[in-house]
Amino acid sequence: MNWQYPKLIGPFFVVSQGNSGQSKHSFTPFVCAQVAMAQNSFGSGAHPSFPCGHVPLTILGHFSHAIPQTPIFTVPPFKDIHTPEYKMAFWRERPQAVVSTRHNLYRGSPYRNLRRGLSGGLTVMRRYKDIPLWKNVSPKQWTDWKWQVRNRITDVETLAQVINLTNEEENEIRNSMKYLRMAITPYYATLMDPDDPTDPVRRQAVPTSNEIHVTKDEMEDSVGETVDSPHEGLTHRYPDRVLLLITDQCSMYCRHCCRRRIVGQTDHQRSWEEIKEGIDYVRNTPEIRDVLLSGGDALLVSDEFLEKVIREIRKIKHVQIVRIGTRTPVVLPYRITPGLVKMLRKYHPIWLNTHFNHPNEITPASKRAVEMLVDAGIPVGNQTVLLKGVNDCPTIMKKLCQDLTWIRCRPYYLYQCDIAKGLEHFRTSIAKGIELIEAMRGHTSGFAVPQFIIDAPTGGGKIPVGPQYLISMSDKRVILRNYEGGIFQFPEVEGDRTSVCPPSCKMCKDYPLLESKEGVAAVLAGKRMCLIPEGTLREKRRKSYRKDSGHVPKCDDF
Ligand code: SF4
Repeated sequence: MNWQYPKLIGPFFVVSQGNSGQSKHSFTPFVCAQVAMAQNSFGSGAHPSFPCGHVPLTILGHFSHAIPQTPIFTVPPFKDIHTPEYKMAFWRERPQAVVSTRHNLYRGSPYRNLRRGLSGGLTVMRRYKDIPLWKNVSPKQWTDWKWQVRNRITDVETLAQVINLTNEEENEIRNSMKYLRMAITPYYATLMDPDDPTDPVRRQAVPTSNEIHVTKDEMEDSVGETVDSPHEGLTHRYPDRVLLLITDQCSMYCRHCCRRRIVGQTDHQRSWEEIKEGIDYVRNTPEIRDVLLSGGDALLVSDEFLEKVIREIRKIKHVQIVRIGTRTPVVLPYRITPGLVKMLRKYHPIWLNTHFNHPNEITPASKRAVEMLVDAGIPVGNQTVLLKGVNDCPTIMKKLCQDLTWIRCRPYYLYQCDIAKGLEHFRTSIAKGIELIEAMRGHTSGFAVPQFIIDAPTGGGKIPVGPQYLISMSDKRVILRNYEGGIFQFPEVEGDRTSVCPPSCKMCKDYPLLESKEGVAAVLAGKRMCLIPEGTLREKRRKSYRKDSGHVPKCDDF
């Protein structure tokens, strides 16, 4: 039996979800067309995701027109799918593209139209062996994260072998690399449209001259991490958690990175001594219950080094959770190996946040990476950055968030792009973020809607903003509007509204650290009289009235 593609035109069916290594496939006829398979994601039957050689392939209705020169895997008539010959032929031929079609997929330029035709499911990737630079790379090498890191694209000459660049683009890249180095994993490079400089994946990876342009408002340390840093590489901003940077290396240097002042400086992990200083700070600060390991990319260090860091943190009794910040599920999904996952699950609770920005980044390989983590009990959240020309569109954002929930990654934050140097071309108005949330809240599952966040410059921290749903209120009722624009009342309780602690409750006594001692919450709780800003003219006047003592009354004095 010889499955040549593209040949078969006719009925297509579903072969689904054999990704666990079990000998179980179900074959379901389906209405609209949706297919699967990228050789450069799944490789041969030896791929760790599919040790049995089974295939997750979702199918299809009926293609009614020929598919010229398209790397599509063709599926035999339904009755033949169950045969052993079919299964063997499937692997022998190694289907090459993940295809999903409800529309006319294959008209015009194969790659671009393939992308545009996607209506759901997984993303089309270029077949890496079709790129001369990697034609001799074996699937085993390709899916080895260390090979991917060693073979990152770091210069224009190599990049030009993967995507088409004009002379002008080449010069732009060389110039902007002086400000932030370039590194693109071969895997991520196969997601870029080779012909389209506006491709959303390509825009995140390939430098442009826009990065050289710095506006008056832009800052080196746009969110003020250094002002809250008791030690190099450690930021303690919020009451109960810290950020610990363990490397400045990333597998890819994102062109929108707000930590560009430090990432890629050495392209190496930090020394154990430096990290140990940060861990000692955590040990000596009992209110810290959450340690976020980041970088750079916290998963760019070896499993052994990461385990050494986590093990040391886990010795601290007051640390409840360890969080990992990494973009590897997106740009280097092969980093999520069975060995890594096995190591991490020894140190639960571990949480992980990643950074998908566009639905085109959701591929069989990234899906598999997220699923391995979640299956190991590691909740995976996503922090998207709102980027002009990448995801500043309600349809794209909704598709991204829905696809994330489909791969079991919780959309967590949508960040307003920071005012870091050289990022003006990526920034949208804040109104755009509010518009995106408006387009999602109520229109799709609540857990598919991230929180829109502005990370306030100079260390103000994360501030949530969003559409307003509270229209008015009286002491009798609150007036609200819903996502459709309907206006509703919610009656207030008529009796006593005061919350009273149950007499037997000892929670506050047992957990004094949980009490909010600052901020508006502390004023609300009656722990503080007021919050008065410093450095105001009024404060200066007050000082002048008390020349003798110099003591200006603060909130705590009242
Ligand atoms: S992975 Fe994160 S830290 Fe690294 S370059 Fe991208 S955005 Fe910056």
